Amino acid sequence: DFETKQNVLTAWERSRKREHISYGKRTNMTIKEQRESLPVFKMREELVKAVRENQFLVIVGETGSGKTTQITQYLDEEGFAANGVIGCTQPRRVAAISVAKRVSDEMGCRVGEEVGYTIRFEDVTSPKTRVKYMTDGMLQREALIDTVMQKYSVIMLDEAHERTVATDVLFALLKKAALQRPDLKVIITSATLDAEKFSAYFMDCPIMKIPGKTFPVEVLYSQAPQMDYIESALDTVMGIHINEGEGDILVFLTGQEEIDTCCEVLYEKVQALGESIQQLLILPVYSALPSEVQSKIFEPTPKGTRKVIFATNIAETSITIDGIYYVVDPGFSKINTYNPRIGMEQLLVSPISRAQADQRKGRAGRTGPGKCFRLYTEAAYRDEMAANTTPEIQRQNLSNTILMLKAMGINDLLSFEFMDPPPRASMLSALEDLYHLQAIDDTGNLTKVGKQMTLFPMEPGLSKSLLTAVENACAEDMATIISMLSVQSIFYRPRDKSQDADNKKIRFNHPFGDHLTLLNVFNRWKESGYSKQFCENNYLHERHLKRARDVKNQLSQILRKLGLSLATCYGDMDLIRKTLVAGFFKNAAKRDSSEGYKTISDQTSVAIHPSSSLFGKEHEYVIYNNLILTSREYMSQVTAIDPHWLIESAPHYYKTGDGGNSRKKAKIIPLHNQFSRDQNSWRLSSLRQSKEKA
Ligand code: ADP
Ligand code: MG
Repeated sequence: DFETKQNVLTAWERSRKREHISYGKRTNMTIKEQRESLPVFKMREELVKAVRENQFLVIVGETGSGKTTQITQYLDEEGFAANGVIGCTQPRRVAAISVAKRVSDEMGCRVGEEVGYTIRFEDVTSPKTRVKYMTDGMLQREALIDTVMQKYSVIMLDEAHERTVATDVLFALLKKAALQRPDLKVIITSATLDAEKFSAYFMDCPIMKIPGKTFPVEVLYSQAPQMDYIESALDTVMGIHINEGEGDILVFLTGQEEIDTCCEVLYEKVQALGESIQQLLILPVYSALPSEVQSKIFEPTPKGTRKVIFATNIAETSITIDGIYYVVDPGFSKINTYNPRIGMEQLLVSPISRAQADQRKGRAGRTGPGKCFRLYTEAAYRDEMAANTTPEIQRQNLSNTILMLKAMGINDLLSFEFMDPPPRASMLSALEDLYHLQAIDDTGNLTKVGKQMTLFPMEPGLSKSLLTAVENACAEDMATIISMLSVQSIFYRPRDKSQDADNKKIRFNHPFGDHLTLLNVFNRWKESGYSKQFCENNYLHERHLKRARDVKNQLSQILRKLGLSLATCYGDMDLIRKTLVAGFFKNAAKRDSSEGYKTISDQTSVAIHPSSSLFGKEHEYVIYNNLILTSREYMSQVTAIDPHWLIESAPHYYKTGDGGNSRKKAKIIPLHNQFSRDQNSWRLSSLRQSKEKA
């Protein structure tokens, strides 16, 4: 967790003080010189001309060539911002922030002035803003209010090769918008070679290639498949550090937890070797890292030291780190996959594609000839890896996306111009989810609740709970719970004080589960006057709590704008749980005689996650926020409920089975199988629905 990182970082700082610091050549360059040394600079005139002369343009260039930070500036310098903001989307939050900071440095302003960014629950722009970076999800949301993107003169869909759901939807929305607005410029940038496909989609528009200066990278494969890629990655890093020449190391791992463990273990290994080896700076990179820590990765490595960076696939293309000569690639990444069997999204560690592997390899050849250590065999690369990563839209839950499209008046989903259409089954199951949440009616049209749901930037289950809370006069409490759910875990557990941390955590536990526990923590923090000391005493991340407070303020603002009341029920635990059921009845599980729980909708075996406040408790019925698949399927954020609430909230989804007369023996069974058989015609009609709004 965070503590370990801080150790690593303090070590890093200490080492900086001790060493004689001589920075690399790059930083002695002025900003102007740096900008002019980027490959994209040589193409400046050509690029500007191409944007002037074409409505759509595809730009391809190696990561690090300057696409994201420079092209927006060129267009600004050429006066494009006179007719509207120059927007640039990023699939990742962190990239949007980090790039906006970099560009505002380069333009000599503060972030939020001429250059700003917008991510979910955070808008750092002003009326002065001419260059705006944002997540693709945020621009998609803007399309809800402004389908023709009136505010923008240019929109650059950056990192298009990532093919996130939001970028895919924006392809279609922007194509449509541009046809209505001849003055709108749309630029698609990509780090890989799928350019032809993008060009074909955007009316065969021109493709411009930025010549990159790359060096050869030698690839070394494992001789045999690795059992434990973490261990093998650490061994490889040590091997490089001891045996190879100068140059920093980049290791690709799948997530925060793994990265933290690796940093910690490697730190101890290096400490144990003491002065016998050259100094090694260890740095983590993933989305949840505070930005001031993240900016450290861009600082040049002091002479006589080596830097090793453990990163998620954020370092594949979104962020470029100079000075990397060695890449260690275990061949995995975590991807969000929709599991139609349980109707849930899951983050799964999966093998990467060959395209990703090559992208990772390329990171080693930016500064000089490099080496890439693939911790898998050549045969696995050749025969087992898929050539390309499947676009997210073909493997994710689409209920949120479909809800938004419907709110934009796009009802005819079958003829919506997706670059790669999602499978029909996943569209149907999304529609079914929305119908069950009463966001669409039985003709497939958005209901009043459905319309309101689209105004909240969160998954439909949560917005449904929040709107139900308005009716139940507990919106204030629910807004707190939802904002606590939308931030990183607030509890931390330092290794040397784990017992104390556990004891403190238990004191917050609510006997009915995690949602009420979260409410409890937030309210106690509030009562303490949002005190820092309170957080420290109780092993709570103050930063995450503050973010939750910001999110809550945003939700409150939206509610106020809608004229909805923010009443509190002062923690009435039954009312709050009942209200949660309104959004999450689908995620209900019943205790199973043998062990653990079984989901009611399809009898999947699940267990309460050990981090839950209900772990080891024996409630008959629970609901959960999501499932985490590790060694088994775990429910996370779990709350005990009364089964009758399921039928009260969702009589269209559950019914009482045999033996349901006496309260004690209630048996709840799902209606949904029957639903799918009977309602096929409904399902198709709501897909086809062609009553498009003007
Ligand atoms: P691309 O979008 O083509 O991958 P970028 O425009 O992101 O390239 O990056 C251009 C250069 O700017 C890279 O050499 C990168 O190292 C540098 N750079 C980008 N962001 C930062 C930052 N936050 N701090 C320091 N250097 C940065
Ligand atoms: Mg970029």
